[in-house]
Amino acid sequence: MNKIALLFTIFFALFAISFACQDDFNPNTSTIGECTATQKSSWKPTDNAPVLTPADLDPSELAVHEERMAYILAIAKQQNKKFVASIYHQNGTFMCLGVNTGKPNIISHGEIVAINNCTALHGVTMFTNYTLYTTGEPCAMCASALLWADFKTIVWGTFNSDLLCKICMSNIPMDSSYIFGRYYGLRAVAPRVIGGVLRTEADAWFGTYCNRPTSIYYIKPQCACTNTTSPLKIDQTRYSSWFENGKTVSQFGGTITNTGSVTVTNPTFTSTPLRPNSIWGLTVNEATNLWSLQWYPVIQPGQTFSFGYIIDGEDTIAFQPTA
Ligand SMILES: [Zn+2]
Repeated sequence: MNKIALLFTIFFALFAISFACQDDFNPNTSTIGECTATQKSSWKPTDNAPVLTPADLDPSELAVHEERMAYILAIAKQQNKKFVASIYHQNGTFMCLGVNTGKPNIISHGEIVAINNCTALHGVTMFTNYTLYTTGEPCAMCASALLWADFKTIVWGTFNSDLLCKICMSNIPMDSSYIFGRYYGLRAVAPRVIGGVLRTEADAWFGTYCNRPTSIYYIKPQCACTNTTSPLKIDQTRYSSWFENGKTVSQFGGTITNTGSVTVTNPTFTSTPLRPNSIWGLTVNEATNLWSLQWYPVIQPGQTFSFGYIIDGEDTIAFQPTA
């Protein structure tokens, strides 16, 4: 090897070392969410975004949100449509409206229509200084669109969990807070999220499809059971399944929410004997067969802890709080 080649080799070796040490995450050697227990996880453990409710708001702010929610509920009734959205500038100016009429196509949800109307009418392309109102919580598609559009504040009436579990209305079964909590992939700060404004009125307008199984909106609810003895509520969602080495493999995401009024410290969970190929957020003690939280093991009232795993097949591991 001549001297120049040697110098280049040393230079590239140093560069490679400095690059490798720059960050734990190396896309060439890491696969998001698939770290084994012995690997250091580079997957950012993400909690769902906090969702404020009317009880958390100053009465004068709540009055503004209620007035604007009442307006889109009135439009919804007038046009006999369920999902209506509106957009306001933060200076209070009403900008535009969006009604989900199913036209021109199935993804023309109220939020998307309102965004497109604002662009067409006012040339707005980024919504950093805007608030969006919607009669029903944004679906996974719209929540993502609202993050992309950079909305400062998002306000809804009826919760997705109620749409699916009480109203039997078809939707992607995901709390939008799951998506809003992942804002850091796009922007510096999370949107301010307020759910349940005029909830009773909005729920009443959505009504129920549970007794209308022939409706195109009907879906049979598959809702997580709540353990009556524990304040910890566990929800799990299968995000994807694929074929790998001749078998089906699935990825699940879950949340553990403290629905009680007392802080839960170091909770443990029993499970079915199924074992994941990899898991983040939870860790099992093979001697006791009990699972515990992988990170800071405290869940405050109202807080949510996230976990996820990859497993052979398509079945969830049924976790149950031990207390
Ligand atoms: Zn939507």
